[in-house]
Amino acid sequence: MTDAANTLVSLFQRQGGRNRFTAREATVIAVGSPVAEFVRVTLSGPDFADFVSTGPADHVRVFFPHPETGELIAPRAAGPGEDGIIRPEGPALSRDFTPLHPRRVGDSLAIDIDILRHDDPGPAALWAARVAVGDTLVVVGPRGSRGATLQAPRVLLVVDGTALPSASRWISDLPATTAVEVIADIEGDLSWVSEYLRAEGGREVPLTAAGDDLAAAVAVAGVDAETFVFAASEASRLIGLRRYLRRDLTLPREQVAISGYWKRGTAGFDHHAPIDPDDPED
Ligand SMILES: Cc1cc2nc3c(=O)[nH]c(=O)nc-3n(C[C@H](O)[C@H](O)[C@H](O)COP(=O)(O)OP(=O)(O)OC[C@H]3O[C@@H](n4cnc5c(N)ncnc54)[C@H](O)[C@@H]3O)c2cc1C
Repeated sequence: MTDAANTLVSLFQRQGGRNRFTAREATVIAVGSPVAEFVRVTLSGPDFADFVSTGPADHVRVFFPHPETGELIAPRAAGPGEDGIIRPEGPALSRDFTPLHPRRVGDSLAIDIDILRHDDPGPAALWAARVAVGDTLVVVGPRGSRGATLQAPRVLLVVDGTALPSASRWISDLPATTAVEVIADIEGDLSWVSEYLRAEGGREVPLTAAGDDLAAAVAVAGVDAETFVFAASEASRLIGLRRYLRRDLTLPREQVAISGYWKRGTAGFDHHAPIDPDDPED
């Protein structure tokens, strides 16, 4: 490997590994709202005793009850302490969320998930609108965790509302010496965004609105050889940004993490699908 490539690998290195992959039965132990845009649900139960999440972009797959019948179809753990899940027979309704604040509660752990209220709500947003303490769910994952880029001098976070929980984890996980900037792919007044990020991230970071074109907003902010970019938003909005970062600026994979968190008009969007079907990731 060349010296330049070595420098790059160490600047953008992210520690991590696999976690026990299992399905956990979760009981809602608290319901709140860090800002009006989010419903915060605190989940716990004996299965959470060995829950691990050490990466800012970690996600859990949450299985929700059917909005009309209330039936919860979900996987089960393969066995106590074992790795693996037993998939359900019927069609399950599951969505991805960012686990927050894993912490000890009694003999087990609790986590929070912040669910954004949105138009055209699906099973997740509908459930969150009427959730109550004592409700139950099933949580799978995170399968693995990748830590923050602790050596990167500068980190640019390009996020919409669904990725603010992840952005808050990036901010709190990065050293205070890292220059962190947030470009919010969110319309209107951003005061709730800065309120959320300050409270959850633990420090004030520069925040600007993305406007119509994410690539143009990132070009204005500037991306140099020492900047790591995390971008998570509506999938189609990321196509141009991905092209700009990977094709125009020719940034290496290590320097960029881009993920479509949902797709307009698609229920239960699979974030493993390529952002740009015409130019899949190499
Ligand atoms: C790795 C990862 C982490 C995520 N973390 C979080 C998180 O911490 N908090 C969070 O709120 N979301 C998070 N999301 C996004 C969340 O999974 C989706 O928004 C999900 O589609 C919501 O499910 P639903 O059942 O409400 O809607 P769905 O049934 O999936 O969709 C119903 C309709 O609503 C639309 N829709 C979905 N999401 C939105 C939205 N945000 N705004 C407007 N329209 C929407 C869809 O396009 C569709 O037309 C994450 C996604 C990924 C991939």
